[in-house]
Amino acid sequence: MGYAHRLEGKRRIKLADVDPGEHAGLKRQDAEKKTARFIEELIELQELLYAVRLQSVLVILQGRDTSGKDGTIRHVAGPLNSQSCTVASFKVPSEEELAHDFLWRVHARTPPAGDIRIFNRSHYEDVLVVRVHELVEKKVWRQRYEHINAFERVLADSATIILKFYLHISKDEQEQRLLKREKDPIKSWKLSVTDWKEREHWDDYTAAYEDALNRCSTKHAPWFIVPADKKWFRNLAVAETLRDALMPFKKSWLEKVEALGRERKMEIDEYRRSRNHTE
Ligand code: AMP
Ligand code: MG
Repeated sequence: MGYAHRLEGKRRIKLADVDPGEHAGLKRQDAEKKTARFIEELIELQELLYAVRLQSVLVILQGRDTSGKDGTIRHVAGPLNSQSCTVASFKVPSEEELAHDFLWRVHARTPPAGDIRIFNRSHYEDVLVVRVHELVEKKVWRQRYEHINAFERVLADSATIILKFYLHISKDEQEQRLLKREKDPIKSWKLSVTDWKEREHWDDYTAAYEDALNRCSTKHAPWFIVPADKKWFRNLAVAETLRDALMPFKKSWLEKVEALGRERKMEIDEYRRSRNHTE
């Protein structure tokens, strides 16, 4: 069992059943040491993934305001090679995006083989903010769970490893973080009255998240609930989940890379021999 709670859609979960303050009895320092080890392993796995280019990795980060999406990207993805680990953020859709189906802008940003792509928000906003604020009619968003499952199936069938994280914070912790932001001049760019207004819809978001988590957890695209009140535990849980998802491929990736290396080496040897002949 990992530190994040893996959902596979077999049993309906309630967010109230998971404590956002969970930390598996770990102390911060020990958790940070473990995280650093997982990240070292991830760096190596990323290189193999890139070298072999048979699969891609899609990491979806969702969570309420201040839940730590940016922090997770900084701490967990930051140390990876930014040539093949990139972030796509999804904001309020543009006029052009709104003139298409809701997956149009998302599909355009899925990772190519060899790459890791992190989604900071995603197509799930189309059953979260859109549902809570009734930006489209119920009969429209209600169909989207099925659309999302079909879309993620297409990606998985095209060799994309999909991992979806819900960063789970408590209402109190969110308040603390919003207030702290107001005191930090560097964080002032993040200040937004919307965050306070969105808090008034806390329970509606809970219901919307529970439906998204329960209806769109599949074997090929599982959701993970990450207890996120403790930032160091959140980082550990995400790093561990990523590492655990990629590690089973390591042996076969290594074999392929080594085979590729042998082929290249033969070409080099051949080239050297031909040069020796002509000299
Ligand atoms: P932030 O992540 O703080 O930069 O904010 C991005 C904003 O864009 C959030 O308030 C999201 O709810 C909003 N957003 C993202 N996707 C959509 C969408 N499909 N429809 C409406 N609003 C969205
Ligand atoms: Mg925001």
